[in-house]
Amino acid sequence: MTTSPENTLPPPTIDGKPRVLIVGAGLAGLTLAILLQKAEVPYDIFERGLETRTVGTAMMFGANVGPLFTQLGMYDEFVDNSKSCETINIYDDARELQFTRDFKLAAEMGGYTNRIIPRTTLYNIILNKVPQDRIHKGKKMVSLYQDDERVIIYFADGTHHEGDILVGADGAYSAVRHCLYKTVDRIGKLSQSDAEDLPYSCICLVGHSSPLDTEKFPALRDEVCQYNDTHSIDIPYSWMTFTTKEDVICWGVIKYLDVQNSAAYSREQRSDWGEGATETMCNEVREFPIPGGDGSLRLGDLIDGTPRTQITKVMLEEKVFDTWYYGRTVLVGDACHKIHPAGNRGAVQAFHDVVALANWINVLPRSAKVSDIEPQEPVPSIFYPRTFFP
Ligand SMILES: Cc1cc2nc3c(=O)[nH]c(=O)nc-3n(C[C@H](O)[C@H](O)[C@H](O)COP(=O)(O)OP(=O)(O)OC[C@H]3O[C@@H](n4cnc5c(N)ncnc54)[C@H](O)[C@@H]3O)c2cc1C
Repeated sequence: MTTSPENTLPPPTIDGKPRVLIVGAGLAGLTLAILLQKAEVPYDIFERGLETRTVGTAMMFGANVGPLFTQLGMYDEFVDNSKSCETINIYDDARELQFTRDFKLAAEMGGYTNRIIPRTTLYNIILNKVPQDRIHKGKKMVSLYQDDERVIIYFADGTHHEGDILVGADGAYSAVRHCLYKTVDRIGKLSQSDAEDLPYSCICLVGHSSPLDTEKFPALRDEVCQYNDTHSIDIPYSWMTFTTKEDVICWGVIKYLDVQNSAAYSREQRSDWGEGATETMCNEVREFPIPGGDGSLRLGDLIDGTPRTQITKVMLEEKVFDTWYYGRTVLVGDACHKIHPAGNRGAVQAFHDVVALANWINVLPRSAKVSDIEPQEPVPSIFYPRTFFP
C-alpha cells in the first residue's frame, strides 16, 4: 500500500471548507450528505455495499424530524408516501384491545402529524436527493490514519482517500469506531464501557409485504395507518403491524432475551441489517395472532405475503458509547449509539446527530487544526432542529 494519498476522486471544487469523508450510506450518512451539499461543503460517501439495501419495516416521524424534512424540501414527498398515524393500539395475544396511545393532538401540539412510512421508501427518497456521483459503492473502509493536517481512510480493495474530517456513519458494528478506539485505547483514554462488546437484548424479525388483498386485510383501505402492537404475558415476544400506502403492511416481531440467553449469543452471531429470511424464526412466530380482518389473522398470513428477500432477522443491542469523536474523526447514528428500534428512535437520533454535525462543520475553516475542530462552544445553526454541538 502506498503511503501518499491516492485521491482517485475529483478534487474538491469549493475552497475554504473542510473536505468531509463519510463512511456509510445509511440514513445518517445520506442525510448528512444532503445537508453538506446545501452548505456547499465538499464531501464523498463511501459505502461497502455494491447496491443499496432496501429492507426493514415501517418508521414513524412527526415533529421530531418534520422541520428537517421541510428544510430539505422533502416533506411533501414524505407525506405523499406515508399515512398519518393517530393511534397505536395495544392488544394482548387474545386479540383484545388493552389500551390506545392517542396522538391526535400531535399536529396541534408540535406542528406536525405523526406519519408512518416504510423504511425502504424513506431511504429511497433521501437517496435520490444525493448526487449519485458522490456515493462510492463497494468501498469497505478497513483502517484510518489521522494527524493534525489530514485524515486518510483505507479500503478493502487497496485504495485510500484523504480528507479533513472523517464521519463514521457506518452503523452498529462501525469500522470507523473500531479503528478510532484502537487509537484512543493506545493513549489510555478509552473508557471501560467503550472497550466492552455491544450487549444483546433482543432478536428482531422485520418484513415489508407485497401489496396484499384488501378483502383479507380491510384495514388497508383506511386512509389512516392502523398501527397495532401485540404483547404477550406468557412468552417474551411482542409483534407489530403497520398498514402503509400501496396496500403494503410492514411488520416486525421482537424476541426479548433474558440475561442468560443474551450472554449465550457469541460474537459470531452478531449481524447487521442484512437481507434474507430466517426460516426458523418465521416458523417460530407464524401462529402469533394479529388483530383485524375476520379475527383469525396470524403473522403467518403476513409472512406468506412477504417476499423472502424482504424479511430480515437481526440481533439487537442497546448501547450509548462514551467516545464519539477524537481528532478529525466523529461518529454519528448507530455507530455511536445503538438504540432499540421500537419507535425508530435510532433513526430519529441519527437525524439529530447529523443536523448538529452539519451546523458545526459549516463554521469550520478548511485549515482547521485538531484543536479548532474539538468542540468549545455552541455554534450558530443553519439547519433545523436548532440543536447545538456538542
Ligand atoms: C438495511 C437496514 C434496515 C434497517 N431496518 C430498520 C427497521 O426496520 N427499523 C428500525 O428501526 N431501524 C432499522 N434500521 C436501522 C436504522 O436505519 C438506523 O438505526 C438509523 O437509521 C441510523 O442509521 P445509520 O445510518 O447510523 O446506520 P445504518 O442504517 O446501519 O447504515 C450504515 C451504513 O454503513 C455501511 N457500512 C457499514 N460498515 C461499513 C464499512 N466498513 N465501510 C463502508 N460502509 C460501511 C452499511 O452498509 C450501511 O449502509 C435498518 C438499517 C439498515 C442498514
